[in-house]
Amino acid sequence: MKVAIIGAGIAGLACAHELERLGITCILFERKNMIGTIQPNIGSFFNMEDRPIKDPINYFRHTHGILLTPVERMTTIIMHSPKYKSVVKGNHGYFFLRSKDMNSLDNQLARDVKSKINFNSDPDFKELSREYDYVVVATGNSSVLEKLTEWRTTVTTWIKGATVLGNFEPHTAELWFNTDYARSGYGYLMPFDKSRASLVLITTYTQHGELDDLWQLFLHNEGLNYEIVETYEFDLNTGIAKEHKIDNLYFVGNAAGFIDPLLGLGAFHALESGIFAARSIATGKDYEKMVKVITDKLNVLSDYRDKLDKFKNSDYDRMVKILGMPIIRHVIYDTNIDVIKYAHPIIRFFK
Ligand SMILES: Cc1cc2nc3c(=O)[nH]c(=O)nc-3n(C[C@H](O)[C@H](O)[C@H](O)COP(=O)(O)OP(=O)(O)OC[C@H]3O[C@@H](n4cnc5c(N)ncnc54)[C@H](O)[C@@H]3O)c2cc1C
Repeated sequence: MKVAIIGAGIAGLACAHELERLGITCILFERKNMIGTIQPNIGSFFNMEDRPIKDPINYFRHTHGILLTPVERMTTIIMHSPKYKSVVKGNHGYFFLRSKDMNSLDNQLARDVKSKINFNSDPDFKELSREYDYVVVATGNSSVLEKLTEWRTTVTTWIKGATVLGNFEPHTAELWFNTDYARSGYGYLMPFDKSRASLVLITTYTQHGELDDLWQLFLHNEGLNYEIVETYEFDLNTGIAKEHKIDNLYFVGNAAGFIDPLLGLGAFHALESGIFAARSIATGKDYEKMVKVITDKLNVLSDYRDKLDKFKNSDYDRMVKILGMPIIRHVIYDTNIDVIKYAHPIIRFFK
């Protein structure tokens, strides 16, 4: 069987890894000349979004045979709204590295993949689909799928990020909610280590021309006077597609739209969808049925997104205050209850 994968990011590599476990060698085409992201940044597996799965690192290890080493555990989240601050301790998840470094998530996966990777190559998916039995589109961009099937955009964002220097607590993430600079998005800081961190602002429904002013307002309002080493900007739109397999094309990760419209997290579903595509290719199982667990979650999160889009700063104040209350904290963070799922009917009721 001939299988090609376009894109050697985490979704494409997870797919290649699983194909190999099932006895199928494939070929990967990667546009860049290396594995990993050009701009280094810290991402997170946020346990609350992945429930009922308790621990994503254990899940990928035990269920899918993928060994991933995070940078650190995330044990504290500090949330800020214009008027309130809440500190929540617990088993929140993990920080992971995205960069060209050997310890990045991408390179950890690539080390276990034996199939050939063609670098500096940006092939045409239509040509490949004639040449190969199956083509997996793992380009991190949903533009191809948007043209091939029904697509519902859930949120549009512009993101500005920076690597900053300072003194950081390696287990702590900080989040800022304020419509003045983030609209219905948010700012966050996640540490590489004690002296370096990713500082990122996700602004919703903005034009690129507004981004710099919003970034400056973010830094100024929150008193973030860190030394900035490098900055990067890009747009990210999320949406939900009707189909994720079209003829012999499989769409995985961000290329399938598997990025959550609430917080913009997509690593967990990128890995999972890559694995599902490999299993579908190897066994003939229905890919759409397999990814329903992902699309169901995205649909739920899109209702939360609709709600958040109407938030004013006073609503963020209420939210941060409530999320910091001991009883709420206990239910949300000390248990493995799928809070997002169970609170969903309430969200829908107040829509
Ligand atoms: C700043 C930032 C912070 C994030 N933080 C988090 C987080 O904290 N938690 C989380 O879960 N998610 C986070 N995400 C989202 C997460 O990174 C993505 O969901 C995930 O990387 C998607 O994986 P992917 O393999 O689909 O795409 P990518 O990781 O983007 O990989 C796509 C690969 O395909 C290659 N490629 C693209 N086009 C072509 C082409 N035409 N031909 C050949 N190769 C091509 C690219 O070079 C790249 O290597 C973040 C994203 C960003 C940008």
